[in-house]
Amino acid sequence: MATDYQYYFSKIPTCPHCHKKMSCCEAPPIHIGDGLGWGAEVLYICLNDDCSLFVNGWDQIEQQFGHKSSYRYMELPDSKESNVMMVGTADAYKGSVIELDTVQAQNKRYLEEKKAVALLGSCVEEKNLAPVMYLIQDEAADISSRKKAAALLLALNDLSCIDPIRNHTFRDTSLETECNMAIKQLLKVNFKKECPYCMELVKAQATTCMFCKKDL
Ligand SMILES: [Zn+2]
Ligand SMILES: [Zn+2]
Repeated sequence: MATDYQYYFSKIPTCPHCHKKMSCCEAPPIHIGDGLGWGAEVLYICLNDDCSLFVNGWDQIEQQFGHKSSYRYMELPDSKESNVMMVGTADAYKGSVIELDTVQAQNKRYLEEKKAVALLGSCVEEKNLAPVMYLIQDEAADISSRKKAAALLLALNDLSCIDPIRNHTFRDTSLETECNMAIKQLLKVNFKKECPYCMELVKAQATTCMFCKKDL
């Protein structure tokens, strides 16, 4: 994870116009006007609709430029420079506000992923399926780590991996294929098969399912 949002949140400034706490927003990819980047991942913008700069901006711009826009006060992180952004509506930039809860949840997920990746090297030896299953099921985790995890399924030889994988919706079809192949091999080395009717595991040579009693 490249962006340290916690840091940006700890530095949210107060708007000098309305003295309200500003919002931490995702920086738009392009610096409107000169075509360059902002040089920052986030922008602090005062999105208070009662802010005097915003309230008075409509008339100012109307008189000066003759069009319907106003200003929002903006600061770049780690900069004391004062900036304004022109906005056409009161809702502009409100969709790019970064919520602390979301960031904390992302951080938590990222740390879990890192922990699971660190355990991959020793999990077979320790017969620890948990980090492997965590990575396989975390759709936000790095795909190469998830594939590394899937490659350990056979060596772990733990049939309890089958149900969660069967119940997981994979966005990456190649990872899903790798997991399915691993399950196929896993069943083979354990002389098992899945009942096509109830999906319970039965002996490979069974002719009747011991769970649903259907003929196989
Ligand atoms: Zn303000
Ligand atoms: Zn069955």
